[in-house]
Amino acid sequence: MSILIYIDHADGQIKKSALEAISYGAALAKNLNTTAEAIVLGKVNEDLAGLGAYGLSAVHQAADEAFDKADAQALAKTVAGVAGTLSAEVVIFAANANGIALAPRVAVRLKAGLVSSAVALPDTHTEAGFTVKKVVFSGKAFAHVKINTPVKVITLTGNSYPAQKAAGTATVSQLDLHPDLSKVTITGVQKVEGEVPLTEAEIVVSGGRGLKGPENWNLITDLAHVLHGAVACSRPVADDGWRPHHEHVGQTGIQIAPNLYIAIGISGAIQHLGGVNRSKTIVVINKDPEAPFFKAADYGIIGDAFEVVPRLTEAIKAIKG
Ligand SMILES: Cc1cc2nc3c(=O)[nH]c(=O)nc-3n(C[C@H](O)[C@H](O)[C@H](O)COP(=O)(O)OP(=O)(O)OC[C@H]3O[C@@H](n4cnc5c(N)ncnc54)[C@H](O)[C@@H]3O)c2cc1C
Repeated sequence: MSILIYIDHADGQIKKSALEAISYGAALAKNLNTTAEAIVLGKVNEDLAGLGAYGLSAVHQAADEAFDKADAQALAKTVAGVAGTLSAEVVIFAANANGIALAPRVAVRLKAGLVSSAVALPDTHTEAGFTVKKVVFSGKAFAHVKINTPVKVITLTGNSYPAQKAAGTATVSQLDLHPDLSKVTITGVQKVEGEVPLTEAEIVVSGGRGLKGPENWNLITDLAHVLHGAVACSRPVADDGWRPHHEHVGQTGIQIAPNLYIAIGISGAIQHLGGVNRSKTIVVINKDPEAPFFKAADYGIIGDAFEVVPRLTEAIKAIKG
């Protein structure tokens, strides 16, 4: 019996969300008196043994580069097979695009109950049994869901459990596994280059229709740049073609939970809040004191973005030297 964590990676780098999933799995393993092991499929340019510092006892790698191009069906089949071999009791994924694609497929193969978007360690101590707290209704409520099956699958919401590094080394084993040809073939991947990915960003600077037009977006990108943050936008901004759709956050866009979300010229409609209200700290800049976003804000600046934002960017630049 063990806990198995799927290590998600891109361009050879292990994602922050995967490190959070490892720490979460290691803490759960401790509570259940068992070990945390991980599976990584494809090529990774990182020290896998060093992941022991996050609480793993073992990392199993199938390094065939074909996994990097394999689709979710092929990856899920391999993860489920390894979970079966290890008799894994719980299989954990980050709740990002890959985790969301893999977890249900793995759960079906393992006849496991699945809880998606967990935000806390499962309650395994009380009579409630194995109960997992998760977000529902676009982050406006929590549900406590009990999993009744012997094998359980969980996806962990980003930024809800910290990656905790201590000391330790994991054993690394190489698996002679290769992806099966599945019913679909990935013929090409188009990636956004040179930007901080929105879902991994600690800081996100986001603009809305209050910016008046795409020609003013340097206000947003300059501030994001000095803060080493990612850029996001409200839906109408993407719909109007001011910004690309992959920057649109909200109920129908990307859902994010950075440590700091700065909303500039965004009204704070419920559909926008649904994708950002799990951010740790929200700063709102809006010239309308009645803008609904102020109700969700930790800090607010009532003012014209065209005056406030350049001064804020300059002040941060000055502090950072
Ligand atoms: C089914 C459905 C799904 C949706 N999904 C999403 C979603 O995923 N994400 C999303 O964002 N929206 C979504 N929407 C749209 C949402 O309802 C709002 O219409 C949208 O979020 C408004 O965008 P906005 O705040 O940028 O624009 P506006 O509502 O036009 O607000 C602009 C804000 O800028 C302020 N402002 C103006 N000038 C300045 C200035 N110079 N300085 C400072 N502030 C200024 C104004 O006071 C105002 O508050 C959805 C709607 C529906 C019906």
